[in-house]
Amino acid sequence: MPQAAGSGYDADNLPYGVVSFGDDSPRVAARIGDFVVDLAPIAALEMLPQTELLAEPSLAELFAAGPPVWASVRRWLVGLVSDPAERSVVEPYLFPLSEVTPHLPFAVADYVDFYCSLDHASNVGKIFRPDAEPLLPNWRHLPVGYHGRAGTVVASGAEIRRPCGQRKQPEADAPTFGPSRRLDMEAELGFVVGVSTPLGSPVSPGAFAEHVFGVTLLNDWSARDIQAWEYVPLGPFLGKSFATSISPWITPLVALESARTPLPRQAPEPLPYLRVEEPAGYDIEVTVRCNNTVVSHPPYAAMYWSPAQMLAHLTSNGASLRTGDLFASGTISGAERDQRGSFLELSWGGRDEVQLADGSSRTFLEDGDEVTLSATCPGALGGRIALGDVTGRILPA
Ligand code: CA
Repeated sequence: MPQAAGSGYDADNLPYGVVSFGDDSPRVAARIGDFVVDLAPIAALEMLPQTELLAEPSLAELFAAGPPVWASVRRWLVGLVSDPAERSVVEPYLFPLSEVTPHLPFAVADYVDFYCSLDHASNVGKIFRPDAEPLLPNWRHLPVGYHGRAGTVVASGAEIRRPCGQRKQPEADAPTFGPSRRLDMEAELGFVVGVSTPLGSPVSPGAFAEHVFGVTLLNDWSARDIQAWEYVPLGPFLGKSFATSISPWITPLVALESARTPLPRQAPEPLPYLRVEEPAGYDIEVTVRCNNTVVSHPPYAAMYWSPAQMLAHLTSNGASLRTGDLFASGTISGAERDQRGSFLELSWGGRDEVQLADGSSRTFLEDGDEVTLSATCPGALGGRIALGDVTGRILPA
């Protein structure tokens, strides 16, 4: 597939999605360069045992099948797009990305959002509690998280309606109900669970790859004014639950092997159930664009808690996993100003203007604004691979 070279979607990437080809029913596809491969008909021709999984209108069956099937489908797929002998077989089932419609690739089972960036948590602490210690006492002991709303996770491209809710101006005596005035985004990675567990079976950090299928870029849209008024004492609720966008392309964990990188040092040492021999994160560079202006470059490598620790913590009380569970990293922010993954931090709570290329400026998002997250990381072939973009445009309330 020479057209894929240098695209970020070469044979060492091959994310999966679910797309409609013309009027046909949606089914599993893989992305290569700016093309998608319609997998089920080729699998049927070649009598692949997993043909039925690939004809599904969701990735859930593939997720549930587990690591040996994931590896075997991937071996087949890499062969399809790399072996010159397969070229004539594949070509009739290769479609330009612009001619197919990607869908939300699986029904999200449960959705959990963490808070794993030391810089993000410190920035938020400084903005909201300027006279106190930025990190709360639990932060270095556990990956803080909350359960979000699975049913409002949408695929990239879905328009985001500005939410209404209760919000109280600092000087006002009472709250009012109306459109959010502090609508924001959060640049995150989402991890997708494939293999379920029964109730009462915690997953150790070492078993991460036995359960997690892959990764997607995720934008946790956030209404800061609604959030600030409602969050005490039970945490985020309606300020977050109106929409979460994910990329329609799920990159398998195995494609991220060359991006694995040691975590920054954890101190104090985590409790035994969160310990791993060599805690690893991913060297994934995210780019945040607002209306085509790059506003930041959040580095995933700077995250304090690893994905394996997030999963271990999430299941440490015996909570079961379901196929299609989605857990997100929390906002990715680095130490530098241009590495902050939210407008809350970029504008420092609304104090500073963020300049856009058209001469306008923002503290928070305006109606009509379009936010796009993209990301790249080292790939197995020596170049860089890309995660699928996630984009969304704000509609008026
Ligand atoms: Ca978040």
